[in-house]
Amino acid sequence: MRTLVTGGAGFVGSHLCETFLGLGHEVICVDNLITGGLGNVEHLRSNPQFSFIRHDISHHIDIDGPIDNILHFASPASPVDYLRHPIPTLKVGSLGTHNTLGLAKAKNSSYLLASTSEVYGDPERHPQSEDYWGNVNPIGIRGVYDEAKRFSEAMVMAYHRCHNINTHIIRIFNTYGNRMRLDDGRVLPNFMGQALRGEPLTVYGDGSQTRSFCHVDDLVEGITKLLFKDYHEPVNLGNPSEVTILEFAKEILDLSGSKSKIIFHPLPQDDPKVRKPDISRAKNLLGWEPKIQRTEGLTKTLKHFQEKIGGK
Ligand code: NAD
Ligand code: UDP
Repeated sequence: MRTLVTGGAGFVGSHLCETFLGLGHEVICVDNLITGGLGNVEHLRSNPQFSFIRHDISHHIDIDGPIDNILHFASPASPVDYLRHPIPTLKVGSLGTHNTLGLAKAKNSSYLLASTSEVYGDPERHPQSEDYWGNVNPIGIRGVYDEAKRFSEAMVMAYHRCHNINTHIIRIFNTYGNRMRLDDGRVLPNFMGQALRGEPLTVYGDGSQTRSFCHVDDLVEGITKLLFKDYHEPVNLGNPSEVTILEFAKEILDLSGSKSKIIFHPLPQDDPKVRKPDISRAKNLLGWEPKIQRTEGLTKTLKHFQEKIGGK
């Protein structure tokens, strides 16, 4: 099998490249390195089954030979990143999705889109199941990401319906693990970096907003299961164990043994107040549910960040 991963030099994408190489696939990683880094795939580069193409997928791409699977993961994903790159984010969700679907049509590839829990916006239904259409502010600052992903989903379904492409859509809920950038601005690298450096942990708002954190190994297992299923509607992949951001900060302080304080900063505009996946569909369809408890996943991830900070 020959599998192309866009955004393959990013956090999740690099784990996918590794996993598909492990399954015996040839892997082509396409990335423009806007938020990713070659360091994430350095360990794969000596593998003859692995190739890296530096390319902005919002522009047309030609690839020689057959492609069995296309996994479209290219997109800034951290709020800080997509607020810094609003137009590239809109382009990769729209033009990038169009280009990769065109490639899938030309090569008759299976296709999987990395969508997001952000399609539910600031949800009025809790937990969120796939039949909920969401509550998104299209012109708010997060609209560049949320609407790009909603457009991507619409485009994927149109290619499935009009061209009979074997498409898949996953809606990923906050996922964490090794190879997140310490400075990507997401809550987990922020808190861990701050705890390890002895700086105050910056809780936005009063910290009563909730998130549900999934370890990347669980996510990747769900992705590999869905890719080989004949199912085309969106599937939530995430860990339903929900925590307030304030509790989360305290958990990280406990696990790291840090003496850092917690300080409060203003809540960013349109920050979702709650988020928790209903994973019934993934359970029934794939027999999948996350196995890694938060304490175990956070302990492993803390160790990676410790090594990064220590190695600097
Ligand atoms: P990331 O920023 O680490 O990875 C994204 C990768 O895409 C980077 O390597 C970046 O350089 C690349 N990229 C961006 N625009 C590109 C373009 N135009 N052409 C080529 N490459 C481009 O983020 P991540 O957390 O690994 O997210 C990966 C995907 O998963 C994204 O599509 C994101 O929306 C989705 N997702 C992630 C999460 C999460 O919690 N990690 C949650 C929901 C959705
Ligand atoms: N957050 C926080 N402190 C930080 C970074 C983020 O309190 O230093 C909050 C943020 O306001 C949000 C939650 O943590 O409520 C998760 O933020 P993240 O940027 O990780 O991603 P989101 O889930 O909002 O896409």
